[in-house]
Amino acid sequence: MIVILKQNSQKKDVDAFLKQLEEMGFEHHFSKGKSSTIIGIIGDTSSLDADDLRTNDIVADVKRVSEPFKLANRKFHPLDSMFNIAGKMIGEGHFNVFAGPCSVETVPQMVETAEAVKSSGASFLRGGAFKPRTSPYSFQGLHDEGLKILLEAKKITGLPIVTEIMNQAHIDLFEDVDIIQVGARNMQNFELLKELGKCNKPILLKRGLSSTIEEWVMSAEYIMAGGNEQVIFCERGIRTYETFTRNTLDLSAIPALKAISHLPVIVDPSHATGLPWMVEPLTKAAIAAGADGVMIEVHNNPKKALCDGAQSLTPQQFDDVMSKIKKYTEFEGKVLEK
Ligand code: PEP
Ligand code: MN
Repeated sequence: MIVILKQNSQKKDVDAFLKQLEEMGFEHHFSKGKSSTIIGIIGDTSSLDADDLRTNDIVADVKRVSEPFKLANRKFHPLDSMFNIAGKMIGEGHFNVFAGPCSVETVPQMVETAEAVKSSGASFLRGGAFKPRTSPYSFQGLHDEGLKILLEAKKITGLPIVTEIMNQAHIDLFEDVDIIQVGARNMQNFELLKELGKCNKPILLKRGLSSTIEEWVMSAEYIMAGGNEQVIFCERGIRTYETFTRNTLDLSAIPALKAISHLPVIVDPSHATGLPWMVEPLTKAAIAAGADGVMIEVHNNPKKALCDGAQSLTPQQFDDVMSKIKKYTEFEGKVLEK
């Protein structure tokens, strides 16, 4: 349920109203926008009478929210969420490029790739230390050692880092990581999501391989319900009957999410297609569709990569993509974060 407050409401009356809600056992979410102030009431509100609430002098209107997600819902938070992560702005008016290899392999591999993507204009460095692989015989990542290498690359280049977590038991290892990624395969690992809800770190939530948009938003809701409101969606392609591309990039997810949620949305054209030459056209398409950023796999030597080399761009190819997308972000009125 959402309560829209009258513009001229006095703070003491608002506080009294919030206290009354608390005494009735309801949690609330307060959102002050430019033109309206909204109180989102969380929990089972079936016992609340909208007409009773309307009798309060500070209440302009009361609406029931039919969607099962509340905190991630744009109705609870009409303005786009904006996050300042390690000095980079993510959200409305800004465009961030997350780049780096699929997996962390060695110090020279990470540092060389990080320096290259930084000089081309990436704002975040990616790299997996814990890798969710289809085969147990494939390279599983360097784990703690990989995180150390990633932090070394962060120290040398100054680029903030994003890396995937697969198990809540590892949360303490991610202390110096700037954004924790939840991969497609863990989008509905609810125990993991609940633990991430308790930590004070931005979460990049990738879409599950066969998840609907509503299921995806419900996963964001799990994180937010724990108190962590910094969630960024990442569309990375879904399973369809098409086999030409590794997955099918669902560009419609961008405007869909923007309509129903206030959280930022980025796109991963590398995992969506598995084809390095599709990264450029789909990055342009993502910008045009309203994305707040892209995540691109780049490796200093893709042929030697231990994971996803075939879809990774060389630093030169990445530089080329970056120089071509500038005018698209400008056209959309977005600042390319550096
Ligand atoms: C990744 O980003 O390295 C990754 C494994 O992606 P996804 O979870 O989207 O498959
Ligand atoms: Mn990968």
